[in-house]
Amino acid sequence: NIKSKEDVYNEIENNNVKFIRLQFTDIQGVVKDVEIPVTQVKKALETGISFDGSSIEGFVRIDESDMVLRPDVRSFALLPWDQGKGVVARMVCDICKPDGSPFEGDPRYVLRRVLKEAHDMGFSFNVGPELEFFLFQVENGKATTKPHDFGRYFEFAPADLAEDIRREIVLGLIDLGFNIEAAHHEVAFGQHEIDFKYDDALSTADNVVTFRYVTRTIAKLNGLHATFMPKPLTSENGSGMHVNLSLSKDGKNAFYDPQDEEEVDQMAYHFIGGVLEHIKGITAISNPLINSYKRLVPGYEAPVYITWSGPNRSSLVRIPAARGQSTRVELRSPDPSCNPYLTFAAILAAGLKGIKEQIDPGEGTDVNIYDLTPKGLADRNIETLPPTLLDAANHLAKDDFLRDALGAHVHDNLLRIAYAEWDAYKLQVHDWETNRYLNAV
Ligand code: ADP
Ligand code: MG
Ligand code: MG
Ligand code: MG
Ligand code: MG
Repeated sequence: NIKSKEDVYNEIENNNVKFIRLQFTDIQGVVKDVEIPVTQVKKALETGISFDGSSIEGFVRIDESDMVLRPDVRSFALLPWDQGKGVVARMVCDICKPDGSPFEGDPRYVLRRVLKEAHDMGFSFNVGPELEFFLFQVENGKATTKPHDFGRYFEFAPADLAEDIRREIVLGLIDLGFNIEAAHHEVAFGQHEIDFKYDDALSTADNVVTFRYVTRTIAKLNGLHATFMPKPLTSENGSGMHVNLSLSKDGKNAFYDPQDEEEVDQMAYHFIGGVLEHIKGITAISNPLINSYKRLVPGYEAPVYITWSGPNRSSLVRIPAARGQSTRVELRSPDPSCNPYLTFAAILAAGLKGIKEQIDPGEGTDVNIYDLTPKGLADRNIETLPPTLLDAANHLAKDDFLRDALGAHVHDNLLRIAYAEWDAYKLQVHDWETNRYLNAV
């Protein structure tokens, strides 16, 4: 466990590290890095490394582009694959302005700020994500949408061709310090899930970003393309990133109450109440692509209706059956294309509001919602998630609470990007339209 600058210097020495990649993410959660030779590491840790932030999406205007990367020593890790030119380590960075104050457009800072609010209430916030992804064939150097295998859920070899690659990804992640809980073939052809143990929200967000590039890199080294695109195949399940959420106080799970009939603390219900109240705006963050909304449709195991329940898996939010330290709330809408820092920040802010204001989440829905008729849905007052990115962005735009939680800079930039995406999309004539209408009218 690396905790200080001295620990980093020792690791570098002991492992003969030659280069260090300083990692951060833009507002969309896309990983960026600046590589420095080890000769610069002292400078990086003492004063930070300057870079031009103006060409990073969602960062700053050209007239105030000087930014400083401050590596977080606790994130020091050796990259597991062979780099050819010597051992490479990485550190995740916070982003500061030249005067040393945190940059309000840094997603890591946005999460830190909401976490501080939780800490002030005595809580730490734990998140355990379940990332799904596809492995596709590569032809002539280009990714295709041909699944790498035709395996199904929990399938074994020989139908599951990806056992070896999945193991290689798992081993790479373990080298980077991940605590892997399970890895399995998912429901769709070529689709997989790898689960790692929950951790504090900041470490988990760092891990999600790391997970994505490790998976893509190891797939590429095996001649395959890994993608976290939410819905790459029309008639197959899409890829989600369920997030398992809990608060702890003094090392104890605050959602667990052994005295309660359900053994669930009232706080968990209030947390759910806060999240459900803001879920439409949160969706623009947790499901940030045009394509995200092609996953959130009935029939493919993805949530559509704004409901919560016990262990029943058709709900947007569920309380899995496990109790004790594993008592948690699972939110099933986020997908793995999201920015995990901003997604966790928005969820936590809403959940804390729920606790402070004791927001009642309403009745749980312990029936299979997919079996309900439109009348059944209306009778129960069940609302749906935003059907498009445009709709989600409109909800985020009018959500002053989320604007406050994310900060105006991030809120403005998320909306700018979402609306630009929608404008570009709406101009396109899709194959579907041509096929349907060209001969019909
Ligand atoms: P599912 O049954 O939905 O497929 P998984 O077993 O795939 O769930 O994943 C469960 C996730 O929940 C794991 O990442 C696990 O570490 C995490 N988890 C377990 N306990 C907690 C907790 N108290 N707080 C947050 N996450 C937790
Ligand atoms: Mg799972
Ligand atoms: Mg499981
Ligand atoms: Mg799954
Ligand atoms: Mg799950």
